[in-house]
Amino acid sequence: MKIAMIGTGYVGLVTGTCFAELGNSVICVDNDLNKIKKLNQGIIPIYEPGLEEMVHKNMEAKRLDFTSEIEEAIKVSDIIFIAVGTPPKENGEADLSSVEKVSAIVADVMTEYKLVVGKSTVPVNTGRWIKKTINIRNIKGVDFDIASNPEFLREGSAINDFLHPDRIVIGVESEKAKNLLCELYKPIDAPILVTDIESAEIIKHASNSFLATKISFINAISIICELSGADVRKVAEGMGLDKRIGKDFLSAGAGFGGFCFPKDLSAFIKIAENLGYDFRLLKEVENINSEQKKTIVKKIRENLWNLNEKTVGILGLSFKPNTDDIRYAPSIDIIGELLKENVQIKAYDPQAMERTKRIFPNIVYCRNPYEVCEGTDALVILTEWDEFKELDMKRVKALLKTPIIIDGRNIFDPEIMREDGFLYTGIGTK
Ligand code: NAD
Repeated sequence: MKIAMIGTGYVGLVTGTCFAELGNSVICVDNDLNKIKKLNQGIIPIYEPGLEEMVHKNMEAKRLDFTSEIEEAIKVSDIIFIAVGTPPKENGEADLSSVEKVSAIVADVMTEYKLVVGKSTVPVNTGRWIKKTINIRNIKGVDFDIASNPEFLREGSAINDFLHPDRIVIGVESEKAKNLLCELYKPIDAPILVTDIESAEIIKHASNSFLATKISFINAISIICELSGADVRKVAEGMGLDKRIGKDFLSAGAGFGGFCFPKDLSAFIKIAENLGYDFRLLKEVENINSEQKKTIVKKIRENLWNLNEKTVGILGLSFKPNTDDIRYAPSIDIIGELLKENVQIKAYDPQAMERTKRIFPNIVYCRNPYEVCEGTDALVILTEWDEFKELDMKRVKALLKTPIIIDGRNIFDPEIMREDGFLYTGIGTK
């Protein structure tokens, strides 16, 4: 099938490349000219395991193209995916102006049947707006369908998530659209849930909000554990063995971040509000998450007493491992708070330092974790990258000015750390 993927970010680039890998002819479009120029030179703008090889392979096979010429891409494609950003506005609502712009261009350009599919995460009823936007301009009365096909991939394991998903959700209002999308996804071995468009749109926000709720829930439990002397890791294990609960998303830590959970949560709260429902549960999920980031700063203060002019080493800047994405990462808020208190920051992340430099150009970026430890008053772990779990802790201890570790992701065993002579503080552990 011929596919236009409008928006070549994390989602558009990964899904577009995977559709090409499945044998389709895909044109990825973006209005960021620099991004397109780089992609055409084979330079991948994001870090995602396995992506670079797959992009090169499909470019060489002439199944994958990159362009900023949106009109041309729409003209030659049967299915148009809208995968542009839907960033939060100040009030938490999703900004849908890019979705509207793309819909208008589709209407202006199309001369034969197009299936327009919403891939971006959007508020319920966005599909209706896309349809209305196209209809208003569609003076020639060209046949078209709209559909919603929310994306559930996770950064860091995006290719695997796309090719081996738990489910594929397709919201449609015509048999033709359903058949086209079912055909497109045929090579993927996963249950396909066909719904109306509104339900598909809500499934995405409800799923992300539920997962964020699980994280805030275990973070709240971690506080109870600290207050009572229990160990949240054992509590989570005991809870997770219950199949109805499941073990995933039960790791207490520095809070959730990334481009999805925080913005989707605030968007869903706003959607509910606009529909007349006060989603208090989700507001509390947000509150717990922002308190969790403050907890890290509090733990640093409890260990260091005065923060002024102390040096804090940060291991991990990305919001989770295996990505260079720092959008809404806890590290950003935590470093910001520490800088306000005149703390000297030394940081290391295997992938996310270049992006972080744009926000904090004046902190010290190190070449490896050991350089971070040199002369540092406290070491703080904010992302659970595998390489941090394998550190030579004797060397770490020898390099630190004081052997203080604040483990914001519970990657170490508190008992072993204390045996090794560290002043160790985890999240919800003794
Ligand atoms: P992104 O910011 O990485 O990419 C969006 C891209 O769209 C950018 O490259 C931008 O230049 C481009 N763009 C914006 N307006 C455009 C226009 N008018 N024409 C052409 N290109 C345009 O965002 P992302 O992380 O890929 O997310 C895209 C959507 O998918 C969002 O709604 C997001 O919530 C959703 N989503 C993201 C993830 C994730 O893990 N990142 C997972 C599932 C769903």
